[in-house]
Amino acid sequence: MTRWDVIVAGAGPAGSTAARECAALGLSTVIIDKAEFPRDKPCGGGVNVRAARLLPFDLTPVVERSITGMYISVRQGAGFTRYADQTLTYLTQRRFLDTYLLEQAERAGARVDQRTAVRAVERTAASVTVRAGNQVFEGRTLVVADGANGPTAGLAGIEVARRKEIALEGNITPADEALERWSNVFAIDIGSVTGGYGWLFPKGDHVNIGVGGLASIGPSLRSLLGRMTAFYGFDPADLWGIRGHPLPVRLPGAPVFEGNVLLTGDAAGFLDPLSGEGIYAAIWSGQRAAHHLAEYLTGVTPSLDGYRLEVERTLEPDLVIARQLHTLFHISPPLWAAFVRRSSRAWRLLSDLITGSATYSGARQQSRLISLGLHATAAGVRVAGAVHGGNKLLLPATSGWRPGRSH
Ligand SMILES: Cc1cc2nc3c(=O)[nH]c(=O)nc-3n(C[C@H](O)[C@H](O)[C@H](O)COP(=O)(O)OP(=O)(O)OC[C@H]3O[C@@H](n4cnc5c(N)ncnc54)[C@H](O)[C@@H]3O)c2cc1C
Repeated sequence: MTRWDVIVAGAGPAGSTAARECAALGLSTVIIDKAEFPRDKPCGGGVNVRAARLLPFDLTPVVERSITGMYISVRQGAGFTRYADQTLTYLTQRRFLDTYLLEQAERAGARVDQRTAVRAVERTAASVTVRAGNQVFEGRTLVVADGANGPTAGLAGIEVARRKEIALEGNITPADEALERWSNVFAIDIGSVTGGYGWLFPKGDHVNIGVGGLASIGPSLRSLLGRMTAFYGFDPADLWGIRGHPLPVRLPGAPVFEGNVLLTGDAAGFLDPLSGEGIYAAIWSGQRAAHHLAEYLTGVTPSLDGYRLEVERTLEPDLVIARQLHTLFHISPPLWAAFVRRSSRAWRLLSDLITGSATYSGARQQSRLISLGLHATAAGVRVAGAVHGGNKLLLPATSGWRPGRSH
């Protein structure tokens, strides 16, 4: 039986990237997914410019729209459109994007096993055995990349503290004239979905409309989606492909590796809690996981702890600030929209954050207003915590926050 250097569980952007990079670095790699590709995944399919830049190949074959404009509305009132002088984001369909990323992994030399669901994991300090479908895979290391609902970390005995927010989306295939309006503009509506937002993302021949926010909105998601669809001028009865999915937000200090097992993407809860984006972090973590696996497996480093350190130094500080900004933003969405509408500086900062040419940490350093707002918010959260035992909307503002338990 082959003893793989790396077994990758899950073939979303995190897993396919990890598998491609591991194979390219000369590690024998197998990637396993329970689905048969092309498979879909509930997702807006927005790939930001920073994520696309991480990839050593062109995403053009799967990009359906390159977006330069953003239509912003507050509580489904009249909105405004702001344009950037560069591409803000690329819009894709996940069934095509993920198949394309998996093909690149296969091309780099990874073996791909589809329709193979992970059922059990056993591990020792030097080996991992994964039972998936009706096969047994033996390996030296394991990359967990099975997303928000995947069982692999739990089967490997690793508990990942993630708060699961929630989203529901559907699609509308409109007449050509209606699609024309959205040819290079995407929309967000703020203030009408608790702790989140509504969106419209145009694709080649349809638009994707969704709502996402705190888990507590679960029971009203369907009616929220209907109202958002009507707000954007479509009949909710025409929605097709309606699907819900968790948005897993990692809690500070949650593990990203244990022994010879690394966690990536949504399985680690690397989703941006402010924007709800996870594709950038999935690709980034898949890439960094491969780098640390290569060093570990070739004896350059004695453990995979370098991955944890890199996550803590590079990704975690931004996730912490994103959590704080999320709190600040939801205190008054109209105020935020007014800034972006009236101030070119605020719009430039927002568009830089969307493209990824600015980071949240950089924005805090750059903008005195954001910095002051974050300080005030952190103080407010502490006061609210002391007075009310916490407020559902006031999400953890400091990295010291710990949940009672993960969901
Ligand atoms: C409604 C919605 C809209 C979103 N919109 C955006 C957006 O526009 N832009 C953005 O950047 N992010 C968006 N996100 C977040 C983004 O979808 C995720 O962060 C991203 O898919 C994470 O990638 P991943 O590779 O970690 O996991 P996934 O993409 O979820 O891939 C996990 C893979 O693991 C497989 N798997 C699961 N269980 C098993 C098992 N037992 N055995 C084997 N395989 C298994 C699955 O079949 C799947 O292929 C959105 C999320 C939601 C819910």
